[in-house]
Amino acid sequence: MGLFTKDIETMNDLFVHQLKDIYYAEKRILKALPDMAGKATGPELKQGFETHLRETEGQIQRLEQVFQLHGVEPEAVKCPAIDGIIDEADDVAGDVDDKQVLDAALVAAAQAVEHYEISRYGTLVAWAQLLGRDDCARLLQQNLDEEKATDEKLTMLAKNGINSLAA
Ligand code: FE
Ligand code: FE
Ligand code: FE
Repeated sequence: MGLFTKDIETMNDLFVHQLKDIYYAEKRILKALPDMAGKATGPELKQGFETHLRETEGQIQRLEQVFQLHGVEPEAVKCPAIDGIIDEADDVAGDVDDKQVLDAALVAAAQAVEHYEISRYGTLVAWAQLLGRDDCARLLQQNLDEEKATDEKLTMLAKNGINSLAA
């Protein structure tokens, strides 16, 4: 932060800041997913986390492409929101003994993560278009679509058994 200027002055600055925020978040999620897969008992849930781990690797690569297209060095800026969501998930999971209840807690935590990502990518797509970066918008839209599909898959898993098994 400069003495007389603020770091974010233009819509472009804001776009780049948000890009660095989601880049940080994706990297944090990448580290959390193996742990979530390890804790999951239901085979579909476990498989779902493993699939999303691979998708997340691809999402990080797309973000690096967006940085490159936009002429900015890929850089992560601390995202307190994702840190909070993941820390909270760890706390709750640590307090659950029953395996089925733990699966329900993992689904709820994963959906909080997906919803954060969906809100960020939705905004990033809109801002990329506003800035005339349709090339960036297309890549960000692919990440958004994957997050939405993951969220829907989690809802399905919850409705088709995990929550009722836990009850
Ligand atoms: Fe993601
Ligand atoms: Fe953030
Ligand atoms: Fe995700």
